[in-house]
Amino acid sequence: MSKILVAGGCGYIGSHTVIDLNDNGFNPISADDFSNSHERMVDGISTLLERPHVNYRVDLCDMDATERIFEENPDIEAVIHFAAHIYVPESVDRPTKYYRNNLNNLLNVLDCCEKYGVKNLIFSSSCAVYGNTKVLPVTEQTPFGEAECPYARTKQMGEQIIRDYCTAHPEFNAVLLRYFNPAGSHESSKIGEAPILENTHLVPIITEVAIGHRKSMTVFGTDYDTRDGSCVRDFIHVMDLAHAHTKAVEFLLHKKNDSNCEVFNLGMGNGVTVLEAINAFENVTGQSLNYSLGERRAGDVAAIYADTRNSREKLGWVPKRDINDIVKSAWDWENNKTWLYEEV
Ligand code: UDP
Repeated sequence: MSKILVAGGCGYIGSHTVIDLNDNGFNPISADDFSNSHERMVDGISTLLERPHVNYRVDLCDMDATERIFEENPDIEAVIHFAAHIYVPESVDRPTKYYRNNLNNLLNVLDCCEKYGVKNLIFSSSCAVYGNTKVLPVTEQTPFGEAECPYARTKQMGEQIIRDYCTAHPEFNAVLLRYFNPAGSHESSKIGEAPILENTHLVPIITEVAIGHRKSMTVFGTDYDTRDGSCVRDFIHVMDLAHAHTKAVEFLLHKKNDSNCEVFNLGMGNGVTVLEAINAFENVTGQSLNYSLGERRAGDVAAIYADTRNSREKLGWVPKRDINDIVKSAWDWENNKTWLYEEV
């Protein structure tokens, strides 16, 4: 069983990826400092793995601690690097926090790969690298646009750092995965999205309003040039997204890559408006949502969705779950996650 180090493996997408790797015959271990995830996520992960999950509580900006993981695990075959700060509004307010963390921890991981002979890296990038593009759907060849926020810029810079590293190390292989809008949770409701910081993403806000943790929510902008005036996003189920990482690991370990730095868009390939997502939630769950129509939110692009031909053809990745599956699983998780916060 190939050992895979999942950096940020107790966070939202990381934890789902740990499970998918395990389900497909890999041996995932993780490094997570719980800066934006609950320690008890390890319990949910362990339940699904049916064995205790191995997590190193390490801040990957700490080079000595990061090195110790590699020293203790000389059999790591690939690193999946999720560990990053991810909130757009926070990145606008605290840019140095984002640059310091998202770039330093990537540099440390790359230096450890070099020192300990790890030849494969999967990197969490984002459709935010495209900025406010007018050409839809976006392909992997669509050029980077002006970054709308420091978070997006850390992803652009991270990609560039990895490209330069790949040029300097022809024997090293990287896959850059550009996520669209991940949402939903594992069908068991044993794991799901549970950040420490306040969530600003649409689907968890919908479920938090429905369960009563928030009084109401606002649809940010109804005057966009879209079919109903609200923004268009490409929502992708987190389990489909997780599986793309397993596919990317297999792609590299089986040496299917044409170049040593490949890029894939990970979305469904179709756009859903914010109002359509709300309607899907109301229809699937029978809950009526307390929302109002409001002003545009700073930094939002009007519409973005992926051209997914490359990931389907080259990775052989076919996402299976739609917006109804997303909101259903997100709602199930919202109703089950209370154990995370209970006293042990
Ligand atoms: N959105 C909204 N109300 C909210 C949160 C988000 O209308 O309370 C909209 C947001 O303006 C954007 C879409 O939902 O058009 C997706 O936003 P999210 O923050 O989930 O992801 P982003 O696309 O910004 O990465």
